[in-house]
Amino acid sequence: MKRSFEAIVVGAGPAGATAALTLARAGVDVALVERGAHPGEKNMFGGVLHRMPALERVFPDFWDRAPLQRHLVKKVLTFMTPGRSLNLEYETESFDRAPYNGYTVFRPHFDRWLAGEAARAGATLLTRCTVEGVVREGGKVAGITVLRGAGELRAPVVIAADGVLSFTAASAGLRRPRFDPGQLGLGVKALLELPKEVIDDRFGLVRDQGASREFVGSSSGVRGGGFLYTNYDSLSAGMVLHLDSLRRSGRTPYDLFNAFLAQPQVAKLVRGARLLEYSAHLIPEGGYRMMPELCGDGILVAGDAAAFCYAKGPNLEGINLAAQSGACAAEAVLEARQAGDWSARRLAGYRRRLEATFVLQDLRTFHRAGELLEIDRLYGDYPELICDFMDRMYRIDGAPKQSLLKMGLAMARKKVGTANLVRDGWTTWSTI
Ligand SMILES: Cc1cc2nc3c(=O)[nH]c(=O)nc-3n(C[C@H](O)[C@H](O)[C@H](O)COP(=O)(O)OP(=O)(O)OC[C@H]3O[C@@H](n4cnc5c(N)ncnc54)[C@H](O)[C@@H]3O)c2cc1C
Repeated sequence: MKRSFEAIVVGAGPAGATAALTLARAGVDVALVERGAHPGEKNMFGGVLHRMPALERVFPDFWDRAPLQRHLVKKVLTFMTPGRSLNLEYETESFDRAPYNGYTVFRPHFDRWLAGEAARAGATLLTRCTVEGVVREGGKVAGITVLRGAGELRAPVVIAADGVLSFTAASAGLRRPRFDPGQLGLGVKALLELPKEVIDDRFGLVRDQGASREFVGSSSGVRGGGFLYTNYDSLSAGMVLHLDSLRRSGRTPYDLFNAFLAQPQVAKLVRGARLLEYSAHLIPEGGYRMMPELCGDGILVAGDAAAFCYAKGPNLEGINLAAQSGACAAEAVLEARQAGDWSARRLAGYRRRLEATFVLQDLRTFHRAGELLEIDRLYGDYPELICDFMDRMYRIDGAPKQSLLKMGLAMARKKVGTANLVRDGWTTWSTI
């Protein structure tokens, strides 16, 4: 095996594959190093692929070529308690036309395809190759070591795109060795097979239309929520749970997930489905607050490895930030290569590029979104309050009625208290 390259990218997820593709297209001799037997083998997400300017620039026909499932025309947010729910459904014809707003995808297919494009452009794809740490020379990163003494690869620059736990960034001293569980989420997901026509009927879809459904109040009091996304002939069903809240609850994620699937509103959507696979993965929910150093001498960090992921309420975005940051990292490497200078000072062009895109702008805008998601009342009291209100509004039983506003306020005060209402309103207003 060849041992030295002009650049090494660790991790063939969306961040790494985009970086390697951008470098290879510019004629750089780049290695894309992946621990799985093939890219995507170990990867999972919810998952909705949102618009990706970085890849749309590289492939003007991206949305025709990428392996996609259904485009989303409908988003439904459900507030629920056992047996009761309020659905907020948004559907628009504009989501039913190109450029589509989002697609469901299977990561094993998508990641394999994207890394394959990088390889076709000239990147050397090395699979079954787990990176253990970085090699240092004269105080700067000069390559990587591969697990179980399988040797080392050399390059003047390394892009760490090895996901949320990034051993590469840790080994280069760019992030703290221990994580704060308050900044991590745990995603659990099951892929459930169902015939296309059944999915179309249950979710009100035709052709390749898809729907995403998010559920608040479905997590038995643990901070988090459930989701259901429609693939062509399967459903992705899962939950995202805050790690510290999960730990304190003493419940297992599978208990909570099974309880979610058993709730009547969800059970009727997944009835008769065949379980194809289960998976779990961590999510760097701390976003801006948990961002590591983005570069050092001879190294840059991209994607989840740099905590470029955020949840603002029901939307979780990560892949689009990963691809954009991979492209920005590659562009910074190209600039450094031209100058023949791999110092952190030169590579700092990476951060400037990120600042000019939605990646750092959105992460900064929503850097306090975590505070909102930390309000325990969101996951129990408020969904109950919403359902109580709907119940009172629709119930006709001969009793005299109150004005809706007065009734709502009185119910809210009784349920959560005036001080909490004001505090939660202010947190919502100031964070998202
Ligand atoms: C349950 C769940 C739901 C989600 N839903 C969505 C969604 O709907 N939309 C969205 O945009 N985002 C979603 N995300 C977030 C999204 O999945 C991530 O932000 C995105 O995958 C980050 O891409 P990445 O390339 O940085 O990292 P990853 O996708 O984690 O890829 C890292 C790659 O590095 C490899 N690797 C790791 N360690 C090593 C090593 N030591 N040596 C070699 N290779 C290594 C891995 O095998 C992997 O291929 C979700 C995440 C989860 C867990």
